[in-house]
Amino acid sequence: MSGRIFTGDELTEDRVVTCDVCVVGSGAGGGVLGHELARRGLDVVMLEEGGYRTRRDFDMKEATAYPAMYQELANRATDDLAISILQGRTVGGGTTVNWCASFRTPPEILQRWRDVHGVKGLDEATLAPHWDWLEERLHIRDWPIEQANRNNQLLWEGLGKLGYSRGTVKRNVKSCAALGVCGLGCPTDAKQSMLVTLIPDAVEQGMRLFANVSARRLELDGSRVVAVHADVLDPRTDRPTGKRLTVKPKVTAVCGGAINSPALLLRSGLDGRGLVGKRLFLHPVVISTGRFRERVEAFFGAPLTVYSRQFIDRGPGKLGWLIEVPPIHPVLASVTMPGFGAAHQELMAQLPYANAVISITLDGVQPGDVGGTVSLRGESEYSRLKVEYPLTDFHWEGFREALKVAARLQFAAGAEQVLSPHSSPVVMRSEKDVALLDPAPYAPLMCRVASAHQMGGCAMGGSRETSVVDSTLRYWDADNLFVVDGSVFPTALGVNPMQTILGVAHWGSQHVAAAVGGRS
Ligand SMILES: Cc1cc2nc3c(=O)[nH]c(=O)nc-3n(C[C@H](O)[C@H](O)[C@H](O)COP(=O)(O)OP(=O)(O)OC[C@H]3O[C@@H](n4cnc5c(N)ncnc54)[C@H](O)[C@@H]3O)c2cc1C
Ligand code: SF4
Repeated sequence: MSGRIFTGDELTEDRVVTCDVCVVGSGAGGGVLGHELARRGLDVVMLEEGGYRTRRDFDMKEATAYPAMYQELANRATDDLAISILQGRTVGGGTTVNWCASFRTPPEILQRWRDVHGVKGLDEATLAPHWDWLEERLHIRDWPIEQANRNNQLLWEGLGKLGYSRGTVKRNVKSCAALGVCGLGCPTDAKQSMLVTLIPDAVEQGMRLFANVSARRLELDGSRVVAVHADVLDPRTDRPTGKRLTVKPKVTAVCGGAINSPALLLRSGLDGRGLVGKRLFLHPVVISTGRFRERVEAFFGAPLTVYSRQFIDRGPGKLGWLIEVPPIHPVLASVTMPGFGAAHQELMAQLPYANAVISITLDGVQPGDVGGTVSLRGESEYSRLKVEYPLTDFHWEGFREALKVAARLQFAAGAEQVLSPHSSPVVMRSEKDVALLDPAPYAPLMCRVASAHQMGGCAMGGSRETSVVDSTLRYWDADNLFVVDGSVFPTALGVNPMQTILGVAHWGSQHVAAAVGGRS
């Protein structure tokens, strides 16, 4: 039986549908889960609040992509505006707009989940066959240094000169033309996102996907979810059309990603004894901008292909970080690079000569580092969500040290100038100026911080007193409700999260499938 993809404009009347499993969200977690359930012959209905956009819609323009395919038109931010948050909102979720870096979970993180958070049965050996399958199906392969763009080569050279550890990144691509616009949607279907791989497979096997449909609330009868109530959105305006889709499933899997999944549970009155929305981790990022004599053209070429975990573990009480480079497109640069007015204009004019180093901090693994919170601004089904993430001295110390390392790397690679992400940037012209970073102001809005990796909010763990879902991804207080996405991570990872989410969803699908026929 072949399924179908429906879009909002086809849903002109209120509808009620029944199914085995309702999967809310079509990203890394939902895409894999929907596929695995459909493959087992289950009747799957998937809801996605974003639109159904494919390579024909991907025009390689930031002005098109960010409003259309990112949460809150790419303007999502923490409540104090200190951290800007990039997060996907389209069929395929983050996998449609991400930068293809694919890492297995660091073993020490899985061990921490077991030892500190009581997660059972999730170790490398258990996940290995799931990752093997995903790596084959999604064509996850090494991207050799010879194929790296200049932006990544500069990082590679800087790391080599300073004697730091360095590695090349695996990417989920097939026949990649290295256009560099992964974040705007891949126009050649080279990126093996959920949009072009597991979602079409699942639809082929009978899954019904409703795009432009936003789940507003889960209805419970005792400890069972009996319905998912959703609004149909107009694909052109993204506003509710007034039509409702009601799904009556045997089992519900919330896969809306960190931030949106906890928000949906909260809107449904499920607060997990106060734990839903807690332990939100963002991998907060600071960006160091280098200017080179040569043209770097960081807007072309595979965006993220070199990394270093040299500083991931700085010892007890210190924030560690992962080092990578991002693609530098004009709009993204204009909002993440420092300065205002003429200085900013000058910087933008120099864009082809710019290289950026990002330090992705590993949050949630130090005692007392509980991350941020997702909550609601009101009590109704339409209450807007609120993201809070207090940045403390602990973070600022890490950011400052990370910026110093990034600047040294850029000078080692030949930068003639390095700028910090402060609102009045620290301007460094040689290595000896790196000390100028010490007295710079480290405070919210004085120093730009960003996030493209959201995790947590529905933490998995060994006890209902300390976690939202158990070690089978089942919500502790409901029989037929699962959460399958990055929100279940009890800590951040210290590597880009997509492949961990894919692996956890592939492994977790057995528990969701078992629940259709009774408790697993
Ligand atoms: C610009 C960018 C670059 C990135 N680069 C990388 C990278 O190179 N490597 C890497 O590993 N990671 C990368 N990431 C992160 C990675 O893409 C995400 O961590 C991952 O996709 C998250 O998976 P998820 O299943 O938790 O949520 P998502 O993939 O975000 O999927 C959730 C989906 O659910 C939908 N949804 C939410 N709420 C509802 C609702 N109520 N009703 C219906 N639908 C709903 C959302 O619209 C979304 O499409 C990047 C992210 C961004 C934004
Ligand atoms: S770099 Fe490759 S995967 Fe990314 S958009 Fe270009 S062709 Fe697609």
